[in-house]
Amino acid sequence: MVKQMSESQKSCPHCAEIVADEAILCRFCDRGISKEHYKNCPFCAEMIWTDAVFCRYCRSTLNGKSAWPQPSRKRLFTLDEAATLFKLDDAAIDKIFEKIGVKKK
Ligand SMILES: [Zn+2]
Ligand SMILES: [Zn+2]
Repeated sequence: MVKQMSESQKSCPHCAEIVADEAILCRFCDRGISKEHYKNCPFCAEMIWTDAVFCRYCRSTLNGKSAWPQPSRKRLFTLDEAATLFKLDDAAIDKIFEKIGVKKK
């Protein structure tokens, strides 16, 4: 089926679905499509609110400070803690443990 685009519609730059021209958020993929209201995340390039201080896609903070606790060399966190805080998979956790020189139990 060929999609007909009227003058009051545009296609979403992310998923190419047809959305209203004045839409600021795509109803199909839930991503921002208005340059007035959204900006690209400098880290993952996803569309986020212009006044956002935190990217909901890559979890980067945009005000220069990290909202996430940094793994301290002195503090030994558990695998469960690390996985919850950083949303890591096992391979990434292994790398962190390797980096801070801690032997995983
Ligand atoms: Zn979309
Ligand atoms: Zn991001």
